[in-house]
Amino acid sequence: MARTPASTARELLAASFSGMVFGFHEDGGLESYSSSDGSQENEATFDMEDDQEEDEKDKLFWENQNQILQATLCRTNSLETKIRRVTKEAVKEAKESEEAVCGCGKAAASVCRSCLMREVSGRLCNAGYNSAICKSKWRSSPDFPSGEHTFLDVVDNSSSRKGEIRVIIELNFRAEFEMARASEEYNRLVNRLPEIFVGKVERLQTLIKILCSAAKKCMKEKKMHMGPWRKQKYMQAKWLGVCKRTTSTPPLSMGQSDRLRPRPKASMLTVDLLGEMMPNMHCTAVAVV
Ligand SMILES: [Zn+2]
Repeated sequence: MARTPASTARELLAASFSGMVFGFHEDGGLESYSSSDGSQENEATFDMEDDQEEDEKDKLFWENQNQILQATLCRTNSLETKIRRVTKEAVKEAKESEEAVCGCGKAAASVCRSCLMREVSGRLCNAGYNSAICKSKWRSSPDFPSGEHTFLDVVDNSSSRKGEIRVIIELNFRAEFEMARASEEYNRLVNRLPEIFVGKVERLQTLIKILCSAAKKCMKEKKMHMGPWRKQKYMQAKWLGVCKRTTSTPPLSMGQSDRLRPRPKASMLTVDLLGEMMPNMHCTAVAVV
């Protein structure tokens, strides 16, 4: 990218400024009685009708979110179903295993997250899938702090008709969206999420969108400030940003032949959709050197 430092700085400044203004609105931190579309025009007085209308709108919002969530979770293709089955089996066995699956020596009673991920990824490789441990990392931006996240994926090229399909696997999916002081409606939504998410990038994108707009609404209703790590862009950066893909070496206990064992290799993966979805992320990546 042929950008001069000056133009980059200008863009950053513009981005940060709009981000600040926008951020306040989004979080509803300063708004007390605004309509949900943000079109309040100094209307200080409210009558009963408006209140009722607002209640109806809120009810409709939560009903809608529930419906889209349910529809998104129900839809699943055969590839996702197969990968989900292998994943759940591997998790179950690793957790029930008498021998310590944890090779790191950290966890005593049960398997730790990173060893569990390695185990599951190994199992998926053994089952013939191109599975890897993905590590995403992002720098801080005016909108949110820096961070990193590790999860699993499977890249499938078996269908020439559909092209490459990437399936994301998150072993602690529900916990990523849980909020301590959330409303009943929000909790109900989160409780519908599976503990282990296995699904295509597009499906994950839809779920993130639903949950993040629900979190925003919930915090607004409770007149509380929403942490920047709850924002859609931050959640997207976790799973859908640029990540380092490391193909795991399955544990020796798996007993497969050397021929089948994938060699460890790392590669960078960029989700094409990202450019469209998160224009600010690119700005971030360029600006913070
Ligand atoms: Zn461990």
